[in-house]
Amino acid sequence: MVDPSLAGAILTSDLDALAANYRRLLRELNGVPCAVVIKANGYGLGADRVAPTLWDAGARVFFVAHVAEGARLRALLPEAEIHILNGLLPGAEWAFQDHDLVPVLGSLPEVADWHSVCDGAAKALPCDLHVDTGMARLGFDAGDLAKIKADPGLLADLNVRFVMSHLASADDPDSSQSAEQLARFKAARDILSMGQACFANSSGIFLGPAYHFDMARPGVALFGVNPTPGRPNPMRQVITLKAKILQIREIDAGETVGYGAAHRVTRKSRIATLPVGYADGYMRALSGQASVYLGEQRLPVVGRVSMDLITVDVTDVSPDVAYPGALVEVIGPHYATDEAAKDAHTIDYEILTSLGQRYAREFIGGPS
Ligand SMILES: *Cc1c(COP(=O)(O)O)cnc(C)c1O
Repeated sequence: MVDPSLAGAILTSDLDALAANYRRLLRELNGVPCAVVIKANGYGLGADRVAPTLWDAGARVFFVAHVAEGARLRALLPEAEIHILNGLLPGAEWAFQDHDLVPVLGSLPEVADWHSVCDGAAKALPCDLHVDTGMARLGFDAGDLAKIKADPGLLADLNVRFVMSHLASADDPDSSQSAEQLARFKAARDILSMGQACFANSSGIFLGPAYHFDMARPGVALFGVNPTPGRPNPMRQVITLKAKILQIREIDAGETVGYGAAHRVTRKSRIATLPVGYADGYMRALSGQASVYLGEQRLPVVGRVSMDLITVDVTDVSPDVAYPGALVEVIGPHYATDEAAKDAHTIDYEILTSLGQRYAREFIGGPS
């Protein structure tokens, strides 16, 4: 925890907006229940604050990626249902019973491994089954499904909570892949008809009721990211990152800024330095691309992003506004994660999950 008075930059997360986003997704789902995915430390915001907020908003089913994340979440939420997307980790099978975690199983050897865990526990512990419908990552493939169809005994005595699959192109409504995956998932459900069906991620929810099944499984939209790229964002902005100006320097026309002299000014200029760099997840790819905002005024990030610093051109801003100590919006309502993602040639997910450990982290709202 970084003391805000000592921090160069302050990351504020609006927990009321997070809860409102959960309710917004519930409205879209129109009666279908909604789990939440809070892997990677709550998409970078801090699972310690994110998890109780979503519990308070009514979420009861939580997904994380790693078993270690699940164990930590269990300590925060003693009564939640916690599912582990990455499934069994060889050598860590014991932890699922100890911490009451549900593994997402995605291969026949994994199922066999889980059978031994259940035999050891003398109990059919709950598990999920993951079908690969087009990611070639985790989950049963067509060959596995054929084997299961031929020998349903392979899944005998499993206590299946969810049968699930994951969309690869849900954020692109023009892609035909989502409909293909939907068809494959339905076909898989003919063979794996036990438990409930859980399919849609954030963008999948907005593909319509055909994608909703028994339970949705969004992550990124909860944190304010637009699940409908190209259309207005239905979610509320959750994070704001502000940095304090350290110094302002006046340089003559023709002088250069930063490593590699990558930026040369063409007029007498004032350059402000801010304590945010690629070590804080402010990606180097943003060099010469990004903007920050001082009030309503857009300021270009000039020169290369350093490990600990960025430089912005404040020539057009009055010294009454741009001065050492003044707070500059680095990510926020004027320059949201989608803009940063576009400028860094990446996706909002990477911007969020890279948010630095040197920021002071403040939270507004949330459960009392
Ligand atoms: C991360 C993840 C989700 C959540 O996806 P979002 O796009 O963040 O809504 C759902 N399911 C699986 C398997 C995931 O890995």
